[in-house]
Parts: sequence; structure tokens; C-alpha cells
Amino acid sequence: MSQATISTTPSLSHEQIRTYQPSPNCLEGKTILVTGAGDGIGRVAALTYAKYGATVLLLGKTISKLESVYDEIEAQGGKQPAMLPMDLESASYAEMQQLENLINKEIGQLDGILHNAGVLGELTPLEMYDVDIFSQVMRVNFTSVFMLTQALLPLIKAADNGSVVFTSSSVGTTPRAFWGAYALSKQGVEGMSDIFTQETQATTNLRFNCINPGATRTNMRAHAYPGENPMSLKTPEALMPSYVCLMSDDSIGVRGQVIALQPK
Ligand code: NAP
Repeated sequence: MSQATISTTPSLSHEQIRTYQPSPNCLEGKTILVTGAGDGIGRVAALTYAKYGATVLLLGKTISKLESVYDEIEAQGGKQPAMLPMDLESASYAEMQQLENLINKEIGQLDGILHNAGVLGELTPLEMYDVDIFSQVMRVNFTSVFMLTQALLPLIKAADNGSVVFTSSSVGTTPRAFWGAYALSKQGVEGMSDIFTQETQATTNLRFNCINPGATRTNMRAHAYPGENPMSLKTPEALMPSYVCLMSDDSIGVRGQVIALQPK
């Protein structure tokens, strides 16, 4: 195995990541794949990465939503994105390897992956949790995240300073009653980020971190808290400085962290 040069750039603190001020074009030259790019936080992340100069690969389930994000990126003058329709509940590992081949052939590089797609499942005691919904949530939020990361590893390891960002939640950091498979999937994601970090940090510059966005004004939040006034919540746009930071070279050296954007 070839030995990569380990970066000595100092890490940023969580507070510096939360209050990061991106410079224009700080993602110029990077190719970033965003899952769940058609809606909610993923949609805004895709638009924002494009705004800061990245070529964005839009992975998602609903093609019409990906098309509208594609059009918005073009309208804002961003680099031409690519749409990668994929249902993470049913996609096979072979399809994910084909995706890696396709990106390699058509674009030739991958610098960042934002694992953002997620489903909520049921909010109910484990005793009554529907086992089919349990497996669907684990597949989308956890197993497919592992499969896609592993399938894309050859490409992202070849980047100078690749960055993989997972999406956790407060109930992933601390399990909470009634959050069932969602909480367990997010706990698993935090563990996955930690293990990938331990297994790669001695030999590569590739970094793995988790973001916990905290309560944010999206459809998922509205389903989880139907009685809440959405206007009392921060918007996905407000999260973007941290999302950009973790993809930019300013966060080289930040590894194995869980960054909560709404500290308690
Ligand atoms: P959202 O508005 O419901 O968006 C979820 C995204 O995931 C959509 O683009 C959706 O695509 C995609 N997705 C769902 N199932 C998929 C599948 N089988 N294959 C491919 N894509 C799929 O949720 P959000 O609030 O933006 O959440 C984004 C991430 O932040 C999630 O991981 C969530 O757990 C996490 N999070 C959110 C909050 C919050 O308060 N909003 C708090 C903590 C953590 P379609 O629209 O095409 O189905």
C-alpha cells in the first residue's frame, strides 16, 4: 500500500466550524456528491456547493426534484451538475460500483460525499415497531450509507484531500425513547464514521466526520413535530457555512468529529 503524506494543517474547533465564513470559490475544482439532493437540507447543500464553485453530483430518489435542483444550479451560473437517480432503499452494491465507474469515466474525480438522504420511519416504542419499517429505515439511513461509501472509496481515496460527511441527529448521539430505527441508524452512522476514521487516518488524507444539523425547517422535521411552528426553526440555509467548511480544504485535519450545529 502506498504511503500518503499526512497533512499537518491544524484542525478547526467545532465553534470555528459553526461560525465558518466561506470565501468565494472555496470549493472550486472539487466534485461533490450529495445524497438526497432533491429536497430539504440536501437540496440547499447542493445549491450551496455549486455556488462556491463545486461540480455537484445530485443523487436522489425523485427525478423531478433532481431536475429542478439541476435547473436552479444552471440558473445561478454554477458548473453543470449531474443527476444520479438512485433509490437507496433498493439499490444494489453492483449499481453503486457502476456509479463509481461512471463518475470515474465521465468526471475522473470525486473529492467529497455528503451522506444526507434519510427517512424518519415510525415514532413508536420498540416493542411495537413495525419490522418492515425498521428494515427500510436501517437500509436507507445506515446500510446504504456503508455500501455507497465502500463502493466510492477507490475514487475518493485518489483525491488529494477527500472528505466524507455523514448526517447524524441528536437522537443518534444520545438514544431517545420512541425514536426507534431512526435513532439506531444514526448511532450506527456515528460509529461508522469513527471506524472509517481509525482505519484510514494513518495511511490517507481522507477524512470522515458527522454533522448533526439540529432542528431544521424541512418536511422531515414537520412530520416528526406536527404541532411545531416551522417558522420557529432555523432554515437549511443557516446550516450551510458548516456544510461548506467540512468540504473545503480549510477543514483538512478535522477527522472523526460529530459536529452539532445546535449545541445544547
Ligand atoms: P427531508 O426534507 O425529508 O429530505 C430527505 C431527503 O432524503 C430527500 O431528498 C429524499 O428524497 C431523500 N431520500 C429519502 N429516501 C430516499 C431513498 N430511498 N433514496 C434516495 N433518497 C432518499 O429531510 P431533511 O430534514 O432535509 O433531512 C436531511 C438529513 O438531515 C437526514 O439524514 C436527516 O435524518 C437529518 N436531520 C434532519 C433534521 C431536521 O430537523 N430536519 C435534524 C437532524 C438530522 P425524496 O424527496 O425524493 O424522497
